[in-house]
Amino acid sequence: MDFEALKRYYAELDRSLFLDGPEKALAGRDSPLPIGFGQTISQPSLVLEMTRLLAPEPDSRVLEVGTGSGYQTALLARFSDQVYTLERIPELSRKAEDRLTELGFTNIHYKIGDGSLGWPQEGPFDRIMVTAAAGRKPEQLLAQLALGGRIVIPVGPRYMQDLLVLSKDDKGRIMERKLGAVRFVEMVGPYGWGGEK
Ligand code: SAH
Repeated sequence: MDFEALKRYYAELDRSLFLDGPEKALAGRDSPLPIGFGQTISQPSLVLEMTRLLAPEPDSRVLEVGTGSGYQTALLARFSDQVYTLERIPELSRKAEDRLTELGFTNIHYKIGDGSLGWPQEGPFDRIMVTAAAGRKPEQLLAQLALGGRIVIPVGPRYMQDLLVLSKDDKGRIMERKLGAVRFVEMVGPYGWGGEK
């Protein structure tokens, strides 16, 4: 991926477009902010770093779990071929779709549902970005990762997770890199902190 172009787009993209009400005025801060329904948009520098780690290519098919505000989706969609984004809260998904359509994106596909199960009909994916924290690695997502593909995912308990980069080599073997501690909202469902919900 062209990291310089990513940095330019990141500097250009107005985060206030993805926020509502009083949060709009705080868009320029490098901090997480509430987006309603008990969910948060991550601090922009972390979104940038996770996009760098995922490193989508212009021909990549990307799966995103946790559409949220759609801010991360925009960065992914600008630097890949197609983005399939999953969100369990219908209102957030619809609002993100409206915003991203307004911004002119035509390569994003939206689905409301449990993202830990992935989107098997559209897989395999070259890249998978997960922006909700899993208690353990979701096997379904690994199964939907193409050979040579990569997942960026926070895995760990409620208050602190490891940011993991999982890569699948051309023989299907998984390699894991641990990138330090992060704190995300819970991936609700079988891979969340409470197990089955
Ligand atoms: N990337 C987002 C951050 C979203 S916060 C942004 O840039 O704004 C995490 C999101 O994951 C929340 O919107 C939450 O509703 C969603 N989420 C949590 N568990 C999920 C699941 N199992 N499937 C799909 N979405 C999930």
